[in-house]
Amino acid sequence: MAVPKKKVSSARGGMRRAHSALTAPALSLCPNCQEPRPPHKVCPHCGWYKGREVVAVKE
Ligand SMILES: [Zn+2]
Repeated sequence: MAVPKKKVSSARGGMRRAHSALTAPALSLCPNCQEPRPPHKVCPHCGWYKGREVVAVKE
């Protein structure tokens, strides 16, 4: 197994992790029920996609 030759300092580890921030998920409003849902996904609140109901949502 490959073994690191030197200890990675906390400053260098922080530089590596400078690009590992999480981004908030993209959300748009459902045109049917106005609830936020991810774009290009079936609405989890009303089951609509492209102007018609495609999935029956359990109450
Ligand atoms: Zn909806």
